[in-house]
Amino acid sequence: MNTSSAVRVRFAPSPTGPLHIGGLRTALYNYLFAKKHQGTFILRIEDTDQTRFVPKAETYIKESLKWCGIDYDEGPGKEGSYGPYKQSERKALYKEYIEKLIASGWAYYAFDTPDELDKLRNEAEAQKQKFMYNHATRSTLQNSLTLSKEKVTEKLQNQEKYVVRFKTPQARILCLKDQIRGEIQVDTNTLDDKILFKSDGMPTYHLANIVDDHLMQITHVIRGEEWLPSLALHVLLYEAFGWQAPEFAHLPLILKPVGKGKLSKRDGDKLGFPVFPLQWIDADNKVSMGYREEGFYPEAVLNFMALLGWNPGTEKEVFSLEELITSFDLNRVNKSGAKFDPEKNKWFQQQHIQQKSTQELSQHLKTLLETKNIQTDLNISHVVSLVKERLIFTDDLWQQSHFFFETPTIYDAKAVKKVWKTDTVKVLDLLIQQLELVTDFTAENTAQEIKSWAKTAEIGLGKIMMPLRVALVGSLSGPDVFEICALIGKENSIARIKNFVTYKNV
Ligand code: GLU
Repeated sequence: MNTSSAVRVRFAPSPTGPLHIGGLRTALYNYLFAKKHQGTFILRIEDTDQTRFVPKAETYIKESLKWCGIDYDEGPGKEGSYGPYKQSERKALYKEYIEKLIASGWAYYAFDTPDELDKLRNEAEAQKQKFMYNHATRSTLQNSLTLSKEKVTEKLQNQEKYVVRFKTPQARILCLKDQIRGEIQVDTNTLDDKILFKSDGMPTYHLANIVDDHLMQITHVIRGEEWLPSLALHVLLYEAFGWQAPEFAHLPLILKPVGKGKLSKRDGDKLGFPVFPLQWIDADNKVSMGYREEGFYPEAVLNFMALLGWNPGTEKEVFSLEELITSFDLNRVNKSGAKFDPEKNKWFQQQHIQQKSTQELSQHLKTLLETKNIQTDLNISHVVSLVKERLIFTDDLWQQSHFFFETPTIYDAKAVKKVWKTDTVKVLDLLIQQLELVTDFTAENTAQEIKSWAKTAEIGLGKIMMPLRVALVGSLSGPDVFEICALIGKENSIARIKNFVTYKNV
């Protein structure tokens, strides 16, 4: 790969709605690639299609990148030397370039009305064919290739509606290069003459994208696979302008969890799982969940996305952003689609929460307790260290540790049914007596004393530990029972066992 000149890459979303995981992954790969090569990462807002413009979308995109920690070096609000970075603010510029293409014969005016074109499409369809505006048909249609110069000038002066189309060269086999897919051959006869510019003065995506990539000195275009069919036109546009094309890399699709079909924006709602970085509320007040609101850490989302289509070539899966930057390599991006696996997504979250310090999580737990108005003398860091490995989200802290702070009053029915045997009252009575005798109430010592008593008394450990756990926790979950005993203290532990017995006897 040519990385001798300073790397400049761009993420170029169209503000047509919330950024979904596919777009976010494109942003991430661009960012990683730029940072790895000490290059520049640019955000460019491609808002030329006013019909699909959604007002809140640009802010949403910027906020999403910020939340993830994918900072752009140049872009709206961070003007570098190549701005403005919003295509609607660059409108005047594209006209000059389309005129160049018309003058050099690479583009032409077309005056065919939508109705006329629809008619041709329908006629072709009736014969099981597809109408294409291309080398085979253009000479029979209403355009500056067939009409006289005077007629064209007249139409333009009369402000008739027109489009400018690219004049695709006939019968050439293009050999396109993609960093991920290798060489791709395209026969230009299979292409149609795409619209580049419209009489409302607005360029289409294709023209604006190429002009901006050139003017912004983009060295590598890294984007989703859905743009691969446009690659031939883009490469031809560079040729038409006489510009050097950047390198291209088309990222694999993200597939639905079943492994078939592209993951769509609506799949999140169907799965009950976020596919958007932030919550999105659409014009009809329909809410789509976001990773942020669901409690995911941005670093976990980034890690998950990084491995959705790229592999480091080792067994390592958990990466910090810094590590991703060092390891990322476009040559290790897979060609085939990447299956979106919500469980794996959660797994990354679980791995990243384990990397948080006990101190940081303790602070969260303290805040949670405050909001619940719970006063405690317990050592919060100790509580956190006992439950940490069971956490997926920060808010799980309460679910996993509430029994340290509140005595169970209700008991999980299934658990009770499982642990309660005919002799359980007797066993628990004896256990209380034994616990009373323990003077050094540390987890280690209590465990040792109870275990040796159980052995001499010939009581199976399960008969003691299981009901003890239900008495202390209210269910069969939680960390080591003796750790719980030690933390809540002897008196409290015994009181909870008594409560449980009373509850069962009522
Ligand atoms: N505006 C295009 C999009 O919304 C950008 C495609 C490209 O990166 O060239 O995805």
